[in-house]
Amino acid sequence: SERDPDQPEYLQAVKEFFGTIEPVFAAHPELIEKNILERLVEPERILQFRVPWVDDQGAVNVNRGYRVQYNSAIGPYKGGLRFHPSVTQSIVKFLGFEQIFKNSLTGLPIGGGKGGSDFDPKGKSDNEVMRFCQSFMTELQRHIGPDIDVPAGDIGVGAREIGFLFGQYKKLNGFQAGILTGKPIFLGGSLARTEATGYGLVYFTKEMLDDIGKSFKNQKVVVSGSGNVAIYAIEKVQEFGGTVIACSDSDGYIFDPEGIDLALVKKIKEEKRERISEYLKERPNAVYENGNIWDLDERYTIALPCATQNEIDGPTAQKMISQGVGAVAEGANMPCNLEAVKEFQKAGIVYGPAKAANAGGVAVSALEMSQNSQRLNWSFEEVDDELKKIMKNIYKEIKDTAKFYNLDGDFVAGANIAGFTKVAKAMLSQGVI
Ligand code: NDP
Repeated sequence: SERDPDQPEYLQAVKEFFGTIEPVFAAHPELIEKNILERLVEPERILQFRVPWVDDQGAVNVNRGYRVQYNSAIGPYKGGLRFHPSVTQSIVKFLGFEQIFKNSLTGLPIGGGKGGSDFDPKGKSDNEVMRFCQSFMTELQRHIGPDIDVPAGDIGVGAREIGFLFGQYKKLNGFQAGILTGKPIFLGGSLARTEATGYGLVYFTKEMLDDIGKSFKNQKVVVSGSGNVAIYAIEKVQEFGGTVIACSDSDGYIFDPEGIDLALVKKIKEEKRERISEYLKERPNAVYENGNIWDLDERYTIALPCATQNEIDGPTAQKMISQGVGAVAEGANMPCNLEAVKEFQKAGIVYGPAKAANAGGVAVSALEMSQNSQRLNWSFEEVDDELKKIMKNIYKEIKDTAKFYNLDGDFVAGANIAGFTKVAKAMLSQGVI
């Protein structure tokens, strides 16, 4: 922390991780001897670059671009790009750090990385977004490659942005399908990638619920966000018989006692790129409130935070518990802060940490890389079946790991330890690198 005093999100992610991995060192003293932790928290490489672009009025704008190539012990750097005004080096480092262990948990050969820019796609025309993406890729292309570093989407980066980034890469280097994942299907994208993080989250949560004799059926569920992860989480919850009563965007949230009309949310967010408050125009019985969705005063049993980091703090967690929440699984990265996690664990609520619960997206990205290498396209069902298996395995692995270290039910520790052990062993086997 002395090296990075002004990087709160990064320090938060590292602190959460350090708080759980002690038991591994008792079992493996050689990890301390070889100073694995200090090596692990230091990224292999951080790139920061200027991204100049011209807006529709002809004015020249400058944003800051980042790529953190965190750890390649078990495979090429892999992780998304986030375009949001809040992006800083602290944010990309926290995301990249968590990505190392998440990717390890998928069981697939991918290292950890993350990137993005403080560019805000909101309110920009398609042409402005295109020019920004072209400028961003003009620099990024020097540093990535199908066996080196394979970026994907995250907040503010969906199929449109990936398409523009891909186009610019192709213009400079020729067609290489494996350079990005989350691509549109006709550019070598994988079926079920769009759905993967949300679906995977719900498959994971189903495993957690099974274990406590519960299911989604007839349960009231709250999902924060209304972006890529939230939309497909809602879709799968509904398919499993749950009722999603609320979702949100960064301005506010909608509460629909009859259950969210997902087709309408998709139309507002995916097609029109409008605000979630538009929902009321077609569903007048719903309620819209400005502010944080977790302030909602309703009873519900399952919470799936799918928007952004630090949505839920200690007092909010207490409020959610008092309203009947019995299971929480993170679709977003670090949506619950340390105090919130403690509250959930203290109350005996089953809690699925992001590293495990939202790993479905990157897992299917890795399957997209496999398809690109094979020059084959798998069917939706094949990918979805594989995703189900991966989420089941992740759940089993973190549960068994927690049990092995006498931390039964502590999935935070289970995920951190299981993800870490594999990476640490891989690092040790490669010498001091
Ligand atoms: P999107 O950009 O598609 O959607 C993000 C959603 O969260 C939007 O509804 C957005 O509202 C809301 N949001 C963003 N910032 C804030 C904020 N500061 N406060 C409140 N709401 C906010 O992103 P994704 O769905 O892809 O990502 C959501 C989360 O899931 C992120 O934490 C991401 O890192 C994580 N994740 C994503 C994966 C993926 O495959 N896409 C994989 C694994 C994790 P608005 O429209 O107003 O901006």
